[in-house]
Amino acid sequence: MALDQKIRLAAFNWLSEQVGIHGDVLPRKLLERGFGFEGERIVLISPQGIFKPRVMQYPLTITTAPEGPYDDAFGTDGYLSYRYRGKDPNHRDNAGLREAYRNRIPLIYFHGVVPGKYLAVWPVYIIGDDPAALTFKVAVEDQVSMGRQDDYTVPEENVLKRAYMTAEVRIRLHQRGFREKVLAAYRSQCAFCKLKYGELLDAAHIISDNEPDSRPTIDNGLALCKLHHAAFDSFIISVNPDYIIHVRKDVLDEEDGPMLQHGLKELHKARIILPRAEHHWPNREYLDRRFQKFMAYA
Ligand SMILES: [Zn+2]
Repeated sequence: MALDQKIRLAAFNWLSEQVGIHGDVLPRKLLERGFGFEGERIVLISPQGIFKPRVMQYPLTITTAPEGPYDDAFGTDGYLSYRYRGKDPNHRDNAGLREAYRNRIPLIYFHGVVPGKYLAVWPVYIIGDDPAALTFKVAVEDQVSMGRQDDYTVPEENVLKRAYMTAEVRIRLHQRGFREKVLAAYRSQCAFCKLKYGELLDAAHIISDNEPDSRPTIDNGLALCKLHHAAFDSFIISVNPDYIIHVRKDVLDEEDGPMLQHGLKELHKARIILPRAEHHWPNREYLDRRFQKFMAYA
């Protein structure tokens, strides 16, 4: 096996391990540190978007910065559209990615969800090159279907499946982006109880994401701990448009030990923790819509 291929596989395996530890949103520092391979340190990310470790023949990773609306990266055909480095199609980074395209080399894609955090997706393949638009077209392959990793250079020729996988990743990008942005806005604490334990925090939707007009924006989110997320989703707790917490009456009337007392009942009539930036505060209309439903349960 060629050295490039060996390192590429080692990078895929290392990423799998890291995702097992950290979840699929990885801190930039970790990617900058990388891993050791036969005495060489292989880092996975650089200040530029297209990155080829010195010892490799083809680029290993492509990265997009965490800014702009979510869909910026996706073309109308649903595929990721990846911008050239600069405006010269023959810049060595662009030429390198073109070589990866010609040789069907699998790459790693890092999608910035918030500053310093990236969703890692691999393998992805360059499936088109548009010098006029200064972009490459990128498709995502099914990680699971790779199975035996030694045959990884033969991507599935199924366009539908590939479009489907790319769409799945797009949904994942939205979800991870939503979680990271909401948690950052609330300074990683539960808006109800101030719990700051990251592993126990979620981004809850105010307008539930199975409703057609639900948006993955911070003003439709609340950072909540697991308990309060579940209580919010099941209408045991709600928040009125003035940001005041209400606990359902039958729960308030119940007597049952300290968890119920401190975890739920004492929140009644308290004000939620709000993000520092007012435009990140929950949208009052969304809160009202949800609160009306809650009142119907009460
Ligand atoms: Zn909480």
